Amino acid sequence: MIGGGIIGLVTAWRAAQRGLRTAVADPEPGGGAARVAAGMLAAVTELQYGEQTLLDLNLASANRYPDFAAELTELTGLDTGYRPCGTLAVALDADDRADLRDLHAFQTSLGLHSQWLSGRDCRRLEPLLAPGVRGGLRVDGDHQVDPRRLAAALLRAAELAGVTFLRSAVARVECAGDRVTGALLADGTTVAADRTVLAAGSESGRIAGLPQHVLPPVRPVKGQVLRLRMPAAHGPFLSRTVRAVVRGSHVYLVPRENGELVLGATSEEFGWDTTVTAGGVYELLRDAHELVPGITELPLTETLAGLRPGSPDNAPLLGAAALDGLVLATGHHRNGVLLTPITGDALAEVLVSGELPDYARPFAAGRFGHARQEQTV
Ligand SMILES: Cc1cc2nc3c(=O)[nH]c(=O)nc-3n(C[C@H](O)[C@H](O)[C@H](O)COP(=O)(O)OP(=O)(O)OC[C@H]3O[C@@H](n4cnc5c(N)ncnc54)[C@H](O)[C@@H]3O)c2cc1C
Repeated sequence: MIGGGIIGLVTAWRAAQRGLRTAVADPEPGGGAARVAAGMLAAVTELQYGEQTLLDLNLASANRYPDFAAELTELTGLDTGYRPCGTLAVALDADDRADLRDLHAFQTSLGLHSQWLSGRDCRRLEPLLAPGVRGGLRVDGDHQVDPRRLAAALLRAAELAGVTFLRSAVARVECAGDRVTGALLADGTTVAADRTVLAAGSESGRIAGLPQHVLPPVRPVKGQVLRLRMPAAHGPFLSRTVRAVVRGSHVYLVPRENGELVLGATSEEFGWDTTVTAGGVYELLRDAHELVPGITELPLTETLAGLRPGSPDNAPLLGAAALDGLVLATGHHRNGVLLTPITGDALAEVLVSGELPDYARPFAAGRFGHARQEQTV
């Protein structure tokens, strides 16, 4: 396994549970984008037009979450922070309201559970919302997990299942003829493997040693996130995730049970830069303040930026790559936390049987390779 982010970890854990000898190479397993991510399990409120196929995978993974989180906790004794709290997506002006109405109609046409609320009903549910909120969508099925705790539990579960951890970066993927045979690590160790899974997140598209046409089309999409602390007294500050689109940018507030309030996130395409900028922090606070004015009173405890592994269609690349012995588990973009349970199941199946399960076929790793070849003909 190249990469021990949540996707590499879940794949390694599930593969080991199925009896495969598994090693993960990563200088910092359990880190990656999950250190930054909000952990919304937002299949319905993240729905975008044209992403209905991804919606099915997202919903299937969301359905697996309660059992998945319970299994991890039972095995490791670690809590993942899974919280079935629901989500409220609100509109702040007439244009937002019209857009949210359209989204509601789209969600309803797909049979999704989403309830339209007036501004007053939104405030009844979340009293700290701004008086200007014009209406919103109540989605009781969109929950949250704490990605840092999830990563810690996955790391422990993988260790308990017998996965070996090699705390070094992969310097180069090793090939012999038309086959991937393992990897050379930065510390000089060579690891031979029958199958090598590329799960290096936003680094997956530039890993050394692979021919250009085999590298997955994955790019880094930067997100800046703030963490604040909610007051312990006076009841819940927010009882569920609250989100909106303000001046075209998504802003969300995810309240954790431990008092942390996660405020995110920017979406920027500047390569592998993870600088927290004054502008990013300013815009997040400005937009969130329009939504919930009281946030400016809260202590700001952390600012951080991470990289989403973006793919051309915002969906993951799963399964056999264009080179024998190489398997992809990458490109999960803004839904990697949500898709963790189903990715683990799908990849373990690929590694054991060689076949992607039906539900994962639309996300087969080769789908862009063909498109690129057709374009060059
Ligand atoms: C700001 C932000 C907010 C987000 N919010 C959400 C959300 O609310 N809900 C949701 O579902 N998803 C969210 N995501 C997306 C989610 O975090 C990612 O899709 C997911 O974490 C990707 O996991 P990964 O394991 O594929 O990649 P990563 O987490 O990037 O992990 C890749 C790992 O590979 C390792 N690596 C890289 N190169 C090498 C190498 N050469 N050799 C060895 N190891 C290597 C790295 O050290 C790292 O540990 C968010 C992401 C960001 C940045």
